[in-house]
Amino acid sequence: MKNIDYQNRGFAYYDTDYNIRCTYTNGAWGELRTSTSKTVELHIAACVLHYAQEAFEGLKAFRGADGKVRIFRLEENAKRLQRSCEGIRMPKVPIELFENAVIQAVKLNEKEVPPYESGASLYIRPVIFGTTPMVGVKPADDYELIVFVSAVGPYFKGGFTSASPFMLSREYDRAAPCGTGSIKIGANYAMGLAAGEEAHKRNLSQAFYLDAKEKKYLEECGAANFFAIKGDTYITPSSDSVLPSITNASLAEIAEKCLGMKVEKRQIALAELDTFDEAGACGTAAVISPISEIVDIDTDKHYVFSKDGKPGAKCKKLYDYLRGIQYGQIEDKFGWNTIIEF
Ligand SMILES: *Cc1c(COP(=O)(O)O)cnc(C)c1O
Repeated sequence: MKNIDYQNRGFAYYDTDYNIRCTYTNGAWGELRTSTSKTVELHIAACVLHYAQEAFEGLKAFRGADGKVRIFRLEENAKRLQRSCEGIRMPKVPIELFENAVIQAVKLNEKEVPPYESGASLYIRPVIFGTTPMVGVKPADDYELIVFVSAVGPYFKGGFTSASPFMLSREYDRAAPCGTGSIKIGANYAMGLAAGEEAHKRNLSQAFYLDAKEKKYLEECGAANFFAIKGDTYITPSSDSVLPSITNASLAEIAEKCLGMKVEKRQIALAELDTFDEAGACGTAAVISPISEIVDIDTDKHYVFSKDGKPGAKCKKLYDYLRGIQYGQIEDKFGWNTIIEF
């Protein structure tokens, strides 16, 4: 393990020695290759550059107090990438190929997996894109799958210690057509950049989205899912245009099966925001980022969840339980971890 100041690391790209690559051509995936290069050479007419035929995943590996390295929900991420591939007509990455590529990327970069005490983790980024030169709009014939890793700190400054304010504005509700939000593709992110910038200008942490059609129901926040706590109930929006977060699904399962809470996955009208005790953004990168308030900049209404800027008690319980499983301190009775043997 390297001697690195992980405490001051944000959620960013940090170089590592190795990445894994795999090429799809003539209708078949090739062998996994180990690469030390940080770049790819692309044809100027490569499909991905013009029509954004690209999808990605994000998952993490954790070094536990017992020294073991665990990858969280490897298979679920493999399955979601398959859905993304199907959604934008790319060849599905076989589950086993995906799993092997991720495991190899973690093994080769073992010394980059942050020590348990640091609270940091190894972020794993698989990405697949169409490389065939073309100008007509159709799926590419050739694809590159790359898996690289980066040792990261918290996504939002302060990690779980503080709650942050989010911006609500009808201007920015996903410009992308309804429905495309449900797959993990870069094009959706590019559409959200303007909203994120506007939020930052106002000293708000991220944009919060309503449904693009009626602008009445809660959807997502930034690049994370939204959940709220009302009494003893975990509530999260159900919508075809929300990306199915694996963290959100895990939290809902923990809430119901481990913490004895109720779980509701349903449409949530904007007006209901006033009735929630706690709220949070969740995702692999964000883990749980408590939300202090949602500021509706169109009406100047503030929906406040945390007056003192501290995370709420239920959010804290959920956070501790999830982290406990990921770092190997709480029994993984769901079988979510893949333990890496070195
Ligand atoms: C990846 C992602 C999330 C979080 O999903 P996890 O599986 O929990 O990491 C939420 N929203 C969007 C738009 C995403 O791309």
